[in-house]
Formats: sequence, C-alpha cells, structure tokens
Amino acid sequence: MYDCIIIGCGPSGMTCALYLKRSGKKVLILERSMPGGQMVITTNVENYPGFSHIDGASLATSMFEQITSIGVEVIFEDVIACDLKGKVKRVKTDKNQYESKCVYIATGATSRLLNVEGEKRLTSKGVSYCATCDGALYKEKVVAVVGGGNTSLEDCLYLSNVAKKIYLIHRRDEFRGDEILVKRIKELEKQEKIELVLNSQVVEVLGDEKVSAIKVFNKITSNTKTLDVDAVFVAIGRTPDTEIFGDLKRDDYGYIVVDENKKTSILGVFCGGDVSNTHLRQIVTACGDGATASLSINEYLAKY
Ligand code: NAP
Repeated sequence: MYDCIIIGCGPSGMTCALYLKRSGKKVLILERSMPGGQMVITTNVENYPGFSHIDGASLATSMFEQITSIGVEVIFEDVIACDLKGKVKRVKTDKNQYESKCVYIATGATSRLLNVEGEKRLTSKGVSYCATCDGALYKEKVVAVVGGGNTSLEDCLYLSNVAKKIYLIHRRDEFRGDEILVKRIKELEKQEKIELVLNSQVVEVLGDEKVSAIKVFNKITSNTKTLDVDAVFVAIGRTPDTEIFGDLKRDDYGYIVVDENKKTSILGVFCGGDVSNTHLRQIVTACGDGATASLSINEYLAKY
C-alpha cells in the first residue's frame, strides 16, 4: 500500500513526488512512456527560473535523476483503469494493480496535431505547440500561427512583440476567439504586423533541417500557395488526458476541476498541471501545482 500513487511523470508529478518523498511518504509514479511529459519535446526552455537556456529533455532528465536519487519509485506501465471512490484507491495498469491511500493525477494534455506532411518531422525544428515557450526563438523572424480560438489569437498578440511578421491561418472566416482579441488582431493587421489567411488550411510543412515554408490551401478559391516562414505555431486546441478518470468533475473543455489546494471532486484524489483547469500551462506552474498538492496530500494522509 503506497501513501500516494502519482499518475504521470511530467514536471508536476515529479515535483509532487519530490516533496512527498522528502516528507517521508511512500510514493509511486506510474508513467506510460518516458519521464518529462511535454518537456521532452521542447527544444529550448528559456522561462524556467535558474536556467537562461536548457533543452527540455535535459531538464526532464535532471528532474528524474533528482527524484530517483532520493528513492522515489517509478514504474513504466500504462494506467488503464482506476477505482478512486473508496478509502483505498486502486490503480490498474496494463500489467499490474496498485493500491494507495491517495492519488495525484498529473497526466497532462496533448496538443491537437494538424496531421499534415512535415509536421512531425519538423516538431521542435520550427513546428511548435507553445508560443509562450518557443516564441522568443523567432525574434524578427516571419512566423505562422494556425487556429481561430483564443489560444491562437493570444499567441499572435504575444508573437507580435517578438516576430517581424505573423501569418494567422484559420480554416474559416470567423474567429471562435473573443471579440476583444479579434479587435486587437485587426489593429495589428492594419499595421501590417499580422496578415490574416482565412478559409485556409495548412496542407504541408516544408524544410530540411528546420521549417522554411508552409503550403496553404484556400478552400474558397481552391488555390494552394507557399508562405516562407521560420516557424509554425499550431494552436488548434488541446485534449486533456482524462479518459480513465470518468468519475471526476470536469470543466466545459474536459479539464479536471480542482480547488486552490489541488483537491478534485473525489476525496483523496488530487490533480495538477496541464490536465487540470488551471489558467496557465507551463513547466513552472506544473511544478507549483505539484508542490501545492503535496501539502494537501500530507494534510489528507495525517487524517487518514
Ligand atoms: P479552441 O477554442 O477549441 O479553438 C481551436 C481552433 O482551432 C478553432 O478555431 C478551430 O477552428 C481550429 N481547429 C481545430 N481543429 C483544426 C484543424 N484540424 N485544422 C485547422 N484548424 C483547426 O482551442 P483554444 O484556442 O486552445 O482554446 C481552448 C479553450 O481555452 C477555449 O475555451 C478558450 O476560450 C480557452 N482559452 C481562453 C483564454 C483566455 O480566456 N485568455 C486563452 C486561451 C484559451 P473552428 O473555429 O473552425 O472550429
């Protein structure tokens, strides 16, 4: 019987494990692929305090070495079902079943892909799913943002302070994002900082070692044009990894609802990082959630 099972070995799960282990708890992390979560696919991290520049994989490795060096147990198995309602929590993987007094869910969220040629090959080589993480690398460059929701519009506003020019490519001619953001985008369009490419879909990402251009298909004219860009920021939504946590309360977008202490709607189940209904989804906030959760978990275990 573990004190806490942590599902997901990203920055949030690892920070929670670090704090719990240091307070003498028996902790198990279950992870289906590799440690680090989305950090691993981030080439340059420049907004994590203490490192002016570090690649995501190295940061993930450092975090992993830190927790394993103090004895946190990590098992690489895929969690396929959970029974979270009782006092004893049961977590079933593809190979085993584990029991614990409480659970911390830190499974993250997955960015939706365009699913076009060149996208996967050039991920982290100009294709990015996080403008606030990678935008600063494209100072005075030409970039494209894909999407029509709030994230894409906010990405454009953020990038307008960094990049020379931004193409905003959206598959319709109306934006899903908030009117106030659309207004700001239109102001930047007048200043020729942003060019709107509407009713259009990216059909291919081009480049050898890094992104050099994108092919864009216009659904009205049926024309395909090539735009020279140094980066493509894909902002077409994200899917929180929650399918095995059916009983927990979610928000309208599927994210697990937590309070300020990272408690979920089920007693003894805590959650943080990108899978939760947090406002900001960054490595540093994921770590903060893990630390906050550890405090709540310790309080819960004290009364168990
Ligand atoms: P979203 O609102 O779901 O928007 C996704 C956008 O991507 C839509 O415009 C959609 O087009 C487009 N899209 C989806 N699949 C596509 C594909 N395969 N190819 C091309 N385009 C595709 O996602 P989001 O912008 O990430 O926002 C998620 C939620 O977080 C939203 O509720 C948003 O309001 C919220 N959010 C809020 C803030 C804020 O309040 N400051 C900031 C960021 C996000 P269609 O419009 O044609 O469907």
